[in-house]
Amino acid sequence: MERALIALGVIIVVCFVFFIDMERLLVFECPVCRARRQQLLWLKLPLSDKIITNSFSAWYSAAEPNHSHRWFPRSSTAYRALGSIKISGQLRPLKIFSIDPNDERRFLEKNFTRTQIKLIANNLQSPSAENIFYWALYGDETNAQHNLDELRLWVGQNQRDPGH
Ligand SMILES: [Zn+2]
Repeated sequence: MERALIALGVIIVVCFVFFIDMERLLVFECPVCRARRQQLLWLKLPLSDKIITNSFSAWYSAAEPNHSHRWFPRSSTAYRALGSIKISGQLRPLKIFSIDPNDERRFLEKNFTRTQIKLIANNLQSPSAENIFYWALYGDETNAQHNLDELRLWVGQNQRDPGH
C-alpha cells in the first residue's frame, strides 16, 4: 500500500516537472491598431495582462478613442518546471504582423487622409487588403508607384461601398 502511494507520488511529481506548463506567455495583436497584448498565466491562473502600444497604436487611439481591439493570437510560450521552454506560433500569421507599426504610420500619414487610414487599418486582416498594403509599403522600388496606385484604387472602391 505504502509503495503504491510512493509510486503514485513519483508519477505526479514527474508529470508536474516534465509535462505541466508552469507559466505560459500568450501574445495577441490587434491588426487594426497594432497594439499587442501580453497575458502571463501561472498554472492557468492569470498573473498579468498588459497592452503594449507603439507609434501606430498611439495614432489610432487618438483618431478613434472608442476602438475595440480585435485580438489575434501571435504566439504562446510555455515554461516548464526545469526551465524547458516550448514556443508555438500561430499557424497562419497575418501578413500585417510582419509590418513594422512605425513604417505603417509613416507610410499611411504620408499618403492618405485620416478617414482613409482608418478604412485601411480596419481591413488589414483580410488577405486581399493585406497583400495590396504589404506590397505598397515594402514592394520593389521600381513598382512603388504602381503598388501605391493599387492601394489607392482599393481605398476608392471601398470608400464608395462601405458595406463591402
Ligand atoms: Zn486595436
